[in-house]
Amino acid sequence: MTPGPARSPLQVPVHDSPSSVLFAPFSSREIRKLSVCRVDNPESFNQLWHPNPGGLYDLRMGPFSDRGDLSCGTCLLRSEHCPGHLGHVELPLPVVNPLYIREVLQALKLSCLACHRLRVPDYSKELMLVQQKLLDRGLIIGAQRAADVADVESLSLEDEVEGSRRRSKRAADDVAVVERLRRFYEEEVAEDERRMEELALKSSAAVAAVGQTRNVQELKKRYRKEFVAAGKAGKGACRHCGARTKSVKIYRSR
Ligand SMILES: [Zn+2]
Ligand SMILES: [Zn+2]
Repeated sequence: MTPGPARSPLQVPVHDSPSSVLFAPFSSREIRKLSVCRVDNPESFNQLWHPNPGGLYDLRMGPFSDRGDLSCGTCLLRSEHCPGHLGHVELPLPVVNPLYIREVLQALKLSCLACHRLRVPDYSKELMLVQQKLLDRGLIIGAQRAADVADVESLSLEDEVEGSRRRSKRAADDVAVVERLRRFYEEEVAEDERRMEELALKSSAAVAAVGQTRNVQELKKRYRKEFVAAGKAGKGACRHCGARTKSVKIYRSR
């Protein structure tokens, strides 16, 4: 790129050379900050067919029609030039974002409603965590090996029926596997850091951009699925407090 004419510091965009990008929904605070008006009037128009303040067609969010000489209450431009501005509705009760209703339902189904813990073995949580963290570093082979380290096969989830001797052994197994996984993770990270240092000595350019490939995303999704499946397999009494909770259902009102 050839250098253009010198720009004043104010003209240089702050996001000129991002080192990473994160996508997430706006928080309530951000929504309120972006909003130009609070919509709290259920009557959109008055009797003369003019938009009511605080209604859905409040002019601060932009002109709702290109007819007449309506101009925006925020940027004062006419409809063909106003980009439109965000308003917001304050919700009196917590409401699940419809985009995440599946995930919320899944989390509720995996939770014990008596002790509010996930009804999955501790090692299973640790395994999922370790795998996700390793994948975030782009360590695909490490993430795959984590399952072998946990040796989940030998601690089958179907063992609930095998009586109290098995149950107390299971708690001890849980702790041992969690320990093993944590040690494995630390070793993998240390090894990775050593490798990165070596690479950086050879060429500093080739190091970046290992992380977010399609493979990594696929694996992350698969491990999440396996985690949910492990939770579903452990139905019945909660393995932490022993309580039996009813299944969570969703009611649709139409
Ligand atoms: Zn405007
Ligand atoms: Zn419980």
